[in-house]
Amino acid sequence: MSENQVLQQAAGLAIDYLDKLGNQPIRTTATLAELRSRLGRPLTEKGQSADQVIDELVADAAGGILGSGSGRFYGWVIGGSLPVALAADWLTSTWDQNAASNVTAPAEAVVEEISGAWMKQLLNLPASASFAFVTGCQMAHTTAFAAARHHLLQARGWDVEAQGLHGAPLIRILTSENRHESILRAVRLLGLGTDAVTYVASDKEGRMDPGALDAALSGPSDRATIVSLQAGDLNSGVFDSFKALCPIARKHKAWVHVDGAFGLWAAASPLYRHLLEGVELADSWATDGHKWLNLPFDSGFVFVAEPAAHRAAFSQATSYAVPLADLRNQKDWNPEWSRRGRGFAAYAALRHLGTEGLSDLVERCCSHASKLVEAIDAMVGAEALAHPVINQGLVRFLSPDGDHDRRTDEVIALLQDSGEVWFGGVTWQGRRAMRISVCNWLTSDQDIERTIEVVQSVLSEMSRD
Ligand SMILES: *Cc1c(COP(=O)(O)O)cnc(C)c1O
Repeated sequence: MSENQVLQQAAGLAIDYLDKLGNQPIRTTATLAELRSRLGRPLTEKGQSADQVIDELVADAAGGILGSGSGRFYGWVIGGSLPVALAADWLTSTWDQNAASNVTAPAEAVVEEISGAWMKQLLNLPASASFAFVTGCQMAHTTAFAAARHHLLQARGWDVEAQGLHGAPLIRILTSENRHESILRAVRLLGLGTDAVTYVASDKEGRMDPGALDAALSGPSDRATIVSLQAGDLNSGVFDSFKALCPIARKHKAWVHVDGAFGLWAAASPLYRHLLEGVELADSWATDGHKWLNLPFDSGFVFVAEPAAHRAAFSQATSYAVPLADLRNQKDWNPEWSRRGRGFAAYAALRHLGTEGLSDLVERCCSHASKLVEAIDAMVGAEALAHPVINQGLVRFLSPDGDHDRRTDEVIALLQDSGEVWFGGVTWQGRRAMRISVCNWLTSDQDIERTIEVVQSVLSEMSRD
């Protein structure tokens, strides 16, 4: 038997998993104790055969795999995997290229060059922007802020790569209260410190107030500043007004960063593109491949309008890997050294979808999200808190005794227990809410109908009790 036979076996098990995903409970069914006891097999001296290891892995992990790839999973902002992207991801693992440099992974370097250019076009970003294929939006922020740090300090006569931050001019970060926590982690990792973050006032929907930004920037002059804006809030999907905010930041020579983890992809649809008007005026942009583009996990993208600052923050020459000339060398732009080739899955998904397919995917998710929120809003004992601007929305459930927060958490728990659908909870503007995120290519009209039935039946049952 060929040693590679185990790959055939794994492919069969993987396809079987995906084929059955729609008919399995979405929630996990195994307890932690069960998982620990099943998976906690002895580490033997002689090892086990490959086929036995894979069979037992699948059997032992059963019930511990959250069905987040299901078309009726609406928690967080998770996204599914397009089969074509998963297939390219399998090949990526098979080829096992070290994507650190163009010498160790020339085809990957070319594919990154091509898909990077495609994405700039699709997302309406400057063609001259540099980019990197990173693990996710968290590292995209961190990479962008490293470029911003270089740029802002160089303009003040400080070489941060050589001198570090001890004694450096201070950098402050202006953002809004509803920024994602990953912005704060990027600030921490780069030594800027969360004390340097100031929250600028927003309007009721959560968009940064241009007057407040102007006031915040008009203080003592020449303070190095990063303004971190948002394209697509997690709860309501709202977008900051780039058209209004970017010129204000530019007037004060601040660096503008955009967190567009999923929302940046709205640019792919003619119906939603207007939400991103002016986004091209920013200095850096972060987004995910593993959310709305529906690539497997470990995929984020960062784009930087100042390639020189981006490169200065990351390039590191070595004598043992002289890059091929005339080809982008990945390590000059990425925070990692050795890494997997993230370009192949992105390339495959973009080629498969085409511009229309991508626009369709975006519009379908948005329309499903609206339909869900409207349908739940119309139910007795429920109300919408945030109608989707794109693919995210919030609802809550009302208790006769007035404790709507408790009721909302109870309904979420019952829906999760049903195994048919999966929603998560969040506290928004002081109230408990159920978040609705539709971010999977797989979600169909039937999934939405089934979901509405399940929510209605849980509510009907509760009102009978
Ligand atoms: C998911 C998300 C992030 C973090 O992205 P990762 O890919 O998990 O690192 C940042 N910002 C927003 C708005 C997000 O939705």
